[in-house]
Amino acid sequence: MSRAGGASSASGLARPLPEPRPDLGLREGYHSPQLPARVRLNTNESPYPPPPEWLEAVVSQARDMAFNRYPDRSARALREALAEWHGVRPEQVFAANGSNEVLQCLCLAYGGPGRAAVLWEPTYALHSHIAHLTGTKVVQGQRRADFSLDLDACRELVSRHRPSLVFLCSPNNPTGLAEAPSTVAAIVAGSEGLVVVDEAYGQFSSWSALGMVGDDVPLVVVRTYSKTWSMAGLRLGYAVGPTAVVQALERVALPYHLDMLKQAAGRLALRFSRQMDQRVEAIIAERERLEAGLAELGAQVWPSQANFVLFRPPGRSGGDVWQALVDRSVLVRDTSRWPGLSGCLRVTVGTPEEDGVFLEALAEVLA
Ligand code: PMP
Repeated sequence: MSRAGGASSASGLARPLPEPRPDLGLREGYHSPQLPARVRLNTNESPYPPPPEWLEAVVSQARDMAFNRYPDRSARALREALAEWHGVRPEQVFAANGSNEVLQCLCLAYGGPGRAAVLWEPTYALHSHIAHLTGTKVVQGQRRADFSLDLDACRELVSRHRPSLVFLCSPNNPTGLAEAPSTVAAIVAGSEGLVVVDEAYGQFSSWSALGMVGDDVPLVVVRTYSKTWSMAGLRLGYAVGPTAVVQALERVALPYHLDMLKQAAGRLALRFSRQMDQRVEAIIAERERLEAGLAELGAQVWPSQANFVLFRPPGRSGGDVWQALVDRSVLVRDTSRWPGLSGCLRVTVGTPEEDGVFLEALAEVLA
């Protein structure tokens, strides 16, 4: 048996460890504190498990899998199933380990030293984080106070910096607002670079940019199984975009990055779209109840098209309210110190029971 971490100084090899890349600076990884809590509404997961029939189908297929072999490197069957689902060709679909890996591949393929990515804050923190990690210059525009985009200012920023990547997030995390189709179209029309529309929460929203995708349109739509499909633990996401973009993403992805179990699980999930739709409908109905409950408590609430709600509690600082909720074993996301979000918290839509516990705790805190 071999052991690691043993008597390194006795080996005579001990010396100061090398420094990591200096440009990583003090940049922290992206995390939401995972404190133990009775009700966890901080990471926008689905409160419902996937259908048991799906799990049975996965287990049954797993029995026949050749785990001694590498998986299908091109994930052909999964991509064919996703392509059929979206009415595109398999060559227009790229799958990866969560949409975060899709975003990383986009930055690796289209960003990098000497190139820039433009995005508008406040938005999903990993867009700028991953761009930085890949050596891409990040240009941060600002949204208006109501979190909408000022199109003229957007066009100006894009023409000044000529980014190779433009990130939009619709519905936007953490604000919950979806961009209008005309906004996405105007930004695609005004950009030389590739426009990425992150639709991690796409199925909760009333429209999708998927209909704008085409081989001669510099637009990629990114989706995930983590939210609407109730499969955050599976780590599966994908992009739908021009064939040439998918080919570029394949060049930067590691060989065999998608394991065979995941490929099958993602493909089989599409057979259960009715159950997925039911979950989405239940969450949307519950979202409306949650928004109304927050407004009743005097909070400022931004109407959401996603599975979370951004709100500003009245009277007390966001950080205090967050801590007081933690003290009552309810965990939400503290966004109160994020630029542009002073005093705000973000709560994921949970089950009616979880949301009831959250609203009761909040009422107590604000009383
Ligand atoms: N995009 C957005 C906007 C998100 O909020 C998240 C999850 N927080 C992701 C992408 C990443 O999701 P995943 O990697 O689980 O697919």
